[in-house]
Amino acid sequence: MTRARAEIDLAALRRNLGRVREVAQSAAVMAVVKADAYGHGMGPVARAARAAGAQWLGVALPSEALALRSMGDEGRILAWLWAPSDPALEGCVRAGVDLSVSSRWALAEVAEAARRSERAARIQVKIDTGLSRNGVTLSDLPSLLDDVVAAQGAGLVEVEAIWSHLADGDLPGSDTVPKQLQRYLEAVALAGSRGIHPRLRHLANSGATFAFPECRFDLVRVGIAMYGLTPSPQLGSAAELGLEPVMTLRARLSNVKAVGAGTSVSYGGTWTATAPTVLGLVPVGYADGVPRAAGGRVDVAIAGRRCPAVGRIAMDQFVVDLGPGGGQHGDDVFLFGPGRHGEATADEWAELIDTIGYEVVTRVGSRVPREYVGDSDTPQGDNGTDES
Ligand SMILES: *Cc1c(COP(=O)(O)O)cnc(C)c1O
Repeated sequence: MTRARAEIDLAALRRNLGRVREVAQSAAVMAVVKADAYGHGMGPVARAARAAGAQWLGVALPSEALALRSMGDEGRILAWLWAPSDPALEGCVRAGVDLSVSSRWALAEVAEAARRSERAARIQVKIDTGLSRNGVTLSDLPSLLDDVVAAQGAGLVEVEAIWSHLADGDLPGSDTVPKQLQRYLEAVALAGSRGIHPRLRHLANSGATFAFPECRFDLVRVGIAMYGLTPSPQLGSAAELGLEPVMTLRARLSNVKAVGAGTSVSYGGTWTATAPTVLGLVPVGYADGVPRAAGGRVDVAIAGRRCPAVGRIAMDQFVVDLGPGGGQHGDDVFLFGPGRHGEATADEWAELIDTIGYEVVTRVGSRVPREYVGDSDTPQGDNGTDES
C-alpha cells in the first residue's frame, strides 16, 4: 500500500442511493457528480450511480459533462454553470447534454451553438427564487421567456425543465423554503401562460429531499446524501438519515519516535508534550486535503485507538500523539470514514473545524489515489478490502 489512499465504497454509495430513492418516492434521482464527485472520483461514481438507478447525472461545468460523455455515459446529464464563450458549450449541445439557462446571453450562446450543430439544444430554465446566485429573477423572467419562445419557434431549443435551488433546503422548518417554493410555482405558471410546459420540474437538493417533501416534484438533485454525509447537522446525522459515509481516508505512519516532556511539535511549536510520549508522523498534509485548521482539533484512529493530531498541519504531513503505548512505522492510520476502524466521520471532522462535510471530502487532493471497493463489476472477495 502507498503512503495514503482514499477508499471509496461503491456498495455503500449504491445503498445510499437506494435510501434516497426510497425517500424520494416517485421523484427521479439526479446523482450530482460535480467536482470529481465531491472528491470521490467522477467516473466510478457515475457508473455506480447509474447502476443504482440514477436517471440523471448533474454537474456544474460543461467540461465535466463532456468528461462524462468521454467516459462512455450516454444518459441524461445537466450542466448548470458557465461563463460567456465556454469552449465546451457547443460540444455539450452536440452530445445531447442539457444546459441550464439563467439569462438572455446564455440562451443566445446556446441557440448559436445549436444553429452551428444543426441540432436543437435541450435547455432547463433556472429561476432565482431567493438564493441570489444563478437563475433569472421573476422580474427578468418575462423578457427571457420572449427569447425562449423565439428560439423554440426557430427549432433551436427545447425546454426540458424549469428549476431552482434552495438556500435552506437542509433546515427543517425554515421559512425561506415556502417562499422560494411559491416564487418557483409563480415562474412555472408564467412560463405556462406563454405556452412553455416543460416535462420536468425540480427544486430539491439532498437536504430538501429529506426535509421538504413538497419540493421533490419530478426529480431530486442529490449529492451529499449519496456520499453518505449529512446535508446539515440540524437535519440529523448521516446515520439518523440512514446514510453511510462512502470515503475512508487512510494513511500509514512513516515515522515513530519516543520523546521527552517539553518536546514541541511542528511549525511554531504550538503543542508541547507535558510528559514522555511517543509521536507518530502521518504523511499527508493540507496539500492532500487535510485542513490546516484541523491541527490540534481532530484525532485519527490507529489500531482502534483515537490519537490526537498535535501541532500544526503542514503541507505534506502532520504529527499525532500515540501516547506511551506507541506504535510502529507502517501502522494503518484512519483519518475519517464510516467508523469501522474506530475513526471519526468526515461530518465529525467538519464540526470540529467549523466547516461542512462537503468540504472535507471534496478537498482530498489529487496526490491521494482513490481506490474502489464494493464495485458490482468486481468479483466478490477481490475488492481490495484487506488490512494491508
Ligand atoms: C451541488 C448542487 C446540488 C447537490 O447538493 P447536495 O446538497 O450535495 O445534495 C444540487 N443542485 C445544485 C444546483 C447544486 O449546485
